[in-house]
Amino acid sequence: MTTLVLVLLIAAGVLVLGGGIALVVARGRRELPPTDVLDAITEEEIEHPEHPEPHLEDEPGAGTTTIERPEAAEGRLVRLRARLARSQGSLGKGLLAVLSRADLDDAAWEELEDTLLAADVGVGPTTELVEKLRTRVRVEGIDDPEQAKAALRDELAGLVGLDLDRTLRATGADGKPGVVLVVGVNGTGKTTTVGRLARVLVADGKSVVLGAADTFRAAASEQLQTWGERVGVHTVRGPEGGDPASVGFESVQKGIEDGTDVVLVDTAGRLHTKAGLMDELGKVKRVVEKQAPVTEVLLVIDATTGQNGLAQARVFAEVVDVTGIVLTKLDGTAKGGIVVAVQRELGVPVKFVGLGEGADDLAPFDAEEFVDALLG
Ligand code: GDP
Repeated sequence: MTTLVLVLLIAAGVLVLGGGIALVVARGRRELPPTDVLDAITEEEIEHPEHPEPHLEDEPGAGTTTIERPEAAEGRLVRLRARLARSQGSLGKGLLAVLSRADLDDAAWEELEDTLLAADVGVGPTTELVEKLRTRVRVEGIDDPEQAKAALRDELAGLVGLDLDRTLRATGADGKPGVVLVVGVNGTGKTTTVGRLARVLVADGKSVVLGAADTFRAAASEQLQTWGERVGVHTVRGPEGGDPASVGFESVQKGIEDGTDVVLVDTAGRLHTKAGLMDELGKVKRVVEKQAPVTEVLLVIDATTGQNGLAQARVFAEVVDVTGIVLTKLDGTAKGGIVVAVQRELGVPVKFVGLGEGADDLAPFDAEEFVDALLG
């Protein structure tokens, strides 16, 4: 009996002691992180706990705002080259496979033509390239695959355009900001492009104001504001469904007041009727120009939409004076020939290409890099 009481007492003692230890451990786990970790948590992280990417403080020690430091635009295409090669490699390989044949007969040239057409290069430019290459092979007596490859590289680069001016016209005159209107059908990546362009300009040391004149798509202005906040850029917004032209006007006004370098205006891309689009975009441009001249009109085209994208380009070019093209989602299609086709169609250069979903996956376009990635 006494033994039983003794055993029970010992068991109870073990339980109490174990419980106490468990409590201390659990408390320990709930303890707050050390103060240096807390110091690193800034206001923005508290407001945006879902923030997906790492960011740096603008001024070490300032501690109240965190602003990302975007990657410099120069060299981005080199970083993204692997993605370009992955998406466009089959076109390059197809062309090189035909050219490395010992006998370049009619069937081989036809195959070359088909490969270019399948990559959306377009009929005119394709015929032109094949004819030029055929002549060179004959006149220069090219019979070595390496020489043929070099000739193809040359001709492709010529087609894409080595001497086109692809600089973003973002410099204003008379102390006013440069004004860039970004137009295109919704879903092409227009708002994303405006956000990414802000990063390109900020990386270049420019001050920027964003104008959320796409007042028709519910989330567009919110989305744009978030892009802006990430790099410390102010976004001028209007009421949902409000007048896009007045948002454009106010954003340029704000840019002038603040002495900002560039104002980027996102526009609505409802392609309902050509007349409607003309009214809308034409009005935005007219009203904005009461403040300062528009220095660039960038048309955003989704590279994966092929011929449909070209049809959109045609309509927009009739409505506004497009001065540059941004080709998005080039990472998602093997039809990179659209670069050539769309430049021909509009007579304006591709200035930027989108090669992924990352914040800095928008790169200034470079014909030589493009052709090199294509041919490996
Ligand atoms: P908007 O309606 O034209 O303003 O289109 P959004 O800017 O909202 O973009 C539509 C979708 O396209 C988003 O999911 C973007 O992340 C995506 N997107 C934009 N550019 C690219 C790109 O270059 N590559 C890929 N893969 N996706 C992109």
